[in-house]
Amino acid sequence: MDMDIANPTEESVMLRAMVRDFVDESVEPQAHDHDKHERFNIELLKSMGDMGLLGITASEEYGGAGLDAIAAVIVHEELSASDPGFALAYLAHSMLFVNNLEFNGNVEQKERIMPKVCSGEWIAAMAMSEPDAGTDVLGISTTAQQNADGNWILNGRKMWITNGCLDDEGTPADIVWVYAKTGTDDRGRAQISTFLVENGMSGYTVGQKIMDKTGMRGSNTAELVFEDCIVPKENLVGGIGESMIHMMRNLEIERLTLAAMSLGIARRSLEEMNKYASDREAFGKPIRKFGQIQRYIGESYAKYRAMRSYIYDTANNMQLGKSGQRLDSDGVKLFATTAAKEIADAAIQVMGGFGYVAEYTVERLWRDSKLLEIGGGTIESHQKNITRDLIGWSE
Ligand SMILES: Cc1cc2nc3c(=O)[nH]c(=O)nc-3n(C[C@H](O)[C@H](O)[C@H](O)COP(=O)(O)OP(=O)(O)OC[C@H]3O[C@@H](n4cnc5c(N)ncnc54)[C@H](O)[C@@H]3O)c2cc1C
Repeated sequence: MDMDIANPTEESVMLRAMVRDFVDESVEPQAHDHDKHERFNIELLKSMGDMGLLGITASEEYGGAGLDAIAAVIVHEELSASDPGFALAYLAHSMLFVNNLEFNGNVEQKERIMPKVCSGEWIAAMAMSEPDAGTDVLGISTTAQQNADGNWILNGRKMWITNGCLDDEGTPADIVWVYAKTGTDDRGRAQISTFLVENGMSGYTVGQKIMDKTGMRGSNTAELVFEDCIVPKENLVGGIGESMIHMMRNLEIERLTLAAMSLGIARRSLEEMNKYASDREAFGKPIRKFGQIQRYIGESYAKYRAMRSYIYDTANNMQLGKSGQRLDSDGVKLFATTAAKEIADAAIQVMGGFGYVAEYTVERLWRDSKLLEIGGGTIESHQKNITRDLIGWSE
């Protein structure tokens, strides 16, 4: 039997088939409309709870599916081949929140919260970025101070938060994983701690739903405001000052699944341009006969295959909840995000005027692809991390 790095087991073949059916039936028909109207399809995301996909990497005892990094990559690739905006909302919920809770939360927090986020009763978000700090995590200015009864008072603003608001009426995420400054460490650097803020806690509101994004318009992006927001002591994750550990445990799967989203964009763009190049004739022959079109298709195919191999190789070697694979999670995201943007661009070029309008999908994929070079770490941050990690390296 042929070895397929992207479908290594019977289980992965079945998972991919199930998600593809769901995408064909329910995701693809709504993608264009939700992009056009900048609307997040919350009901569709919630429905993924019934399929066991919202807690894909969470333990079965808390309502998750207990699956691995390969499974997470498959789901993100398949969703993104149709609707990257929707896939981003899924990623924010299932990776940035649920996977984080799985590997960093305590038993009480998991027992209380996990069933709600795995079923889709609650939609979740993760808030690290701020108006004045993104890449520079230690530069955040949201603060948390403990009061006399041990609870925490949060003050500050978070920016660009996917799923931060659930609708156009300012309903905030049901629960949000928040990083806040709780002091300075022995070396004088910001000490960051992690809090679980739930809708209904006083002082937690949506500042604005961010409109007119280039792409990813099927997901909601919001500014969140914490104004003397009271967070009970039970909602501190781990110990004070442990956020760096939490980030390290989660960043690798975040970056890998963002790369998987790029893979879905690349695959779909390639499919569309390849089909079009057979159907479209110019000067009496299909345009795929022209050398310059062959260059777009040939180079896109080779890039797509390289992305696919690197992404699934990294997924096959990734142990969830453990750090140590940063070199390749940075590497796949660095390579795949730009490759996807280039392949979507090639697709528009091959499809001429039709490529430039929404009916043919690739212009949406092209717009969506750009975000992946920025969110979850900019490509510049990956270049820096990789170079730092390669000191003394030889194969
Ligand atoms: C649609 C969308 C969804 C998002 N979702 C979330 C979310 O759910 N949760 C969340 O917390 N955040 C989210 N983000 C924020 C995203 O992660 C940040 O935009 C990203 O980390 C970059 O931060 P920044 O925008 O502040 O840019 P900056 O960090 O200010 O960077 C600006 C430029 O400077 C470069 N730069 C910065 N530092 C260096 C350096 N040391 N060396 C070289 N170059 C450098 C950057 O690479 C970039 O080119 C989202 C953003 C968008 C647009």
